[in-house]
Amino acid sequence: AGGYQSPLLEGLNPQQREAVEYRGPALLIIAGAGSGKTSVLTRRIASLLETREAWPSQILAITFTNKAAAEMRDRVKAILGQGADGMWISTFHSSCVRILRREAENAGLSASFSIYDSADTKVTLKRIIKSLDADTLGFTPGNASAKISKLKNELADVDSYARNANMSDPQEVMFVEIFRQYTQRLRAANALDFDDLIGETVYLFRAFPAVAALYRRRFRHILVDEYQDTNHAQYSLVRELTRPVEPELADEMETTGVHVRNLRDATGGIPGASLTVVGDSDQSIYAFRGADTRNITEFERDFPGTKVILLEQNYRSTQNILSAANAVIGHNFDRKDKKLWSAGGDGEKIVGFTAYSGHDEAQFVADEIEVLHSAGMAYRDMAVFYRTNAQTRALEEILVRSAVPYRVVGGTKFYERAEIKDALAYLISVANPNDELALRRILNTPKRGIGPATETGLASFAEANQISFRQAMRDSAGLGLGPKVTGAILNLATLLDEAALKIDPTNPAGQANVSELLTFLLERSGLLTLLRNSRDPQDEARAENIEELVAQTKDFNKENPDSGLVDFLTQVSLVAAADDLDDASGTVSLMTLHTAKGLEYEAVFLTGVEEGLLPHQMSANEPGGPAEERRLFYVGITRARQRLYLSLAMTRAQFGDINVAMPSRYLQEIPVDLIDWKQSPGMANSRGGTQPRALNARRDGFGGGFAKRGAPEALPPAPKPKTEWSNRVSQVRDNGDLTLAAGDRIRHIDFGDGRVNQVTGDGTKRIAHVQFDTTGAKKLLIKIAPIEKL
Ligand code: ATP
Ligand code: MG
Repeated sequence: AGGYQSPLLEGLNPQQREAVEYRGPALLIIAGAGSGKTSVLTRRIASLLETREAWPSQILAITFTNKAAAEMRDRVKAILGQGADGMWISTFHSSCVRILRREAENAGLSASFSIYDSADTKVTLKRIIKSLDADTLGFTPGNASAKISKLKNELADVDSYARNANMSDPQEVMFVEIFRQYTQRLRAANALDFDDLIGETVYLFRAFPAVAALYRRRFRHILVDEYQDTNHAQYSLVRELTRPVEPELADEMETTGVHVRNLRDATGGIPGASLTVVGDSDQSIYAFRGADTRNITEFERDFPGTKVILLEQNYRSTQNILSAANAVIGHNFDRKDKKLWSAGGDGEKIVGFTAYSGHDEAQFVADEIEVLHSAGMAYRDMAVFYRTNAQTRALEEILVRSAVPYRVVGGTKFYERAEIKDALAYLISVANPNDELALRRILNTPKRGIGPATETGLASFAEANQISFRQAMRDSAGLGLGPKVTGAILNLATLLDEAALKIDPTNPAGQANVSELLTFLLERSGLLTLLRNSRDPQDEARAENIEELVAQTKDFNKENPDSGLVDFLTQVSLVAAADDLDDASGTVSLMTLHTAKGLEYEAVFLTGVEEGLLPHQMSANEPGGPAEERRLFYVGITRARQRLYLSLAMTRAQFGDINVAMPSRYLQEIPVDLIDWKQSPGMANSRGGTQPRALNARRDGFGGGFAKRGAPEALPPAPKPKTEWSNRVSQVRDNGDLTLAAGDRIRHIDFGDGRVNQVTGDGTKRIAHVQFDTTGAKKLLIKIAPIEKL
């Protein structure tokens, strides 16, 4: 009233504003990329708090990454001008861990349960497959874990699966057995894998309505970002949380002292929480992990009374970039057409680049980054995307050489390093004594003379006697293992017992924090000293990594003075790829297309736009595969605000082989006039053929094209090709009939003169192994290499 408009509505378009202000049981916001879905969700939370319709503790917001959660929390704080402690903004996994640790007893767990990552899962499955000889039936840790994960995402457990399995099929019988043993092992180890975190929470709520009621009462507003990538288990969790509390249960809660009176409706029950989800079916890229866009398309049916809001204005990208995105995604059928538009003007054309090799492509990216940077763009506003991690090698090599500061997001995998996993396994063994996997990892790390036979012996001993591995270690004296080995085992068991005492709240001296505990374990086990004293230079790096872990525990203590070992281990377990991001770092970000979801950059280099990579060869023949890959391409394109580069390489080194690549089918879906194509020197028509790289550089809006600085600028620029892809391909040099033999002298456009040492392969895959006079040894695909015989 009175014309007052809260600043939190400032700048919003009418649809966005409605999405912030609407109140009702269910709200579905569907909109294309960059239309403000995440922004609106954030403001909606701020609005609920500002109007005092909700306490912070009544809000549960689900984001796709921990990093996105932290960002959303910060933004809410910035809008409100104050913190909102007690609010849960986190990923599905983090929320579920929190619930399960609190309700561990009902879930049949101890509160310090371990969380198995995919590597842990595979080690466990490897042991099971080995003990069952299941590899003879084609089972591998990889395919077994994929199948188990898929089932768990559909909320199937081993019993429900077995009921419908075809038990006359030996493979099915074996799979059921693997699944059963896997389930049992995790139970015995007091461990959950990633998929269990969601599934077990759903089971918990279904089995214990009184427990579920506590969370239904608490969370009055549930908001989910990136809803298109939820799987069935996550969908079920949302359903469980948004159900009403029956009047009888509400009565019961009141008698146990839980305040519910102000929440009860006319029936005496507590109505279901209000649910807001935002998503874009066109950005669904996790079908391989069970994501199901039906969660969006059937939302209105699932949640009656749903209000639907569409956002159509894009605030992120230029119109050229959007038009390309719209055109590409328009080739997927079975979708609702969305009309995304931008008020930001056409902007620059998209730059297409055809490189001769992955190496050339990387050089182009590095050069262009430097051009953008010298034109005033910060490194942190640029990103390079790729489909597979294997593509980073060439990119990194060139970026290092070009002194471009960069960072591989999600590529460092700090917590996956062996030495870090070793150190963490010590901590886990203290937190969760039942975790056989962790114990076996440290049993002989550092080396204490306990061999693999002893390890499996202890495991069998534990199994035969129905005791834990830890207990088996304590009882090992009677196993006749010899005094030295027995002594080593008992020493380790004692060390872990002593460590446990240091954090035992019932022990007056049990006040150690995580870093003190870790330091104690490292010192007493000798793990760090051993690495420090080693002559292997790799061990020096390993020691530094462990020291980094110690530093992290110190930070953790400082930032979370009330949290302990289990909290630290949880945090470590839930770190996801995108959490690796650090905007302040001033570096170019390198990441996979999957990691890029939800992010935005001024300039985006989308590399490897080739058949086999995008669409990836693995999915090219899968049902729905090419459509999902197209969405991935769409996600990549729509991350760019101002500048978009699409590049591909005609040849790519892979597994020591050189493969010829074809341009991605998706490139032809982009209107020709949106892209300005350039290509590696020497790839141009045979005319000239010996142009230096700099001459072929296109002059673009940032001046200087991708010419190296100091290149001779006075020479006339190469003609700007205006052809579309299908024509370009035919321009690629074809040396198909060039006969080369060892001893021949050749000239290469970039590498200069050299001598052929050897020719391998046949037909179009013939490769010349050439020793160049000044540039070293190279392998060239004869068919298309820019070479001539001298
Ligand atoms: P994605 O589908 O990629 O997740 P999104 O729909 O979540 O995108 P946001 O990330 O929320 O979109 O917004 C995209 C960009 O547009 C952000 O930089 C955001 O700050 C900006 N933006 C959103 N709404 C507005 C607005 N009304 N005015 C100006 N900028 C806006
Ligand atoms: Mg978003």
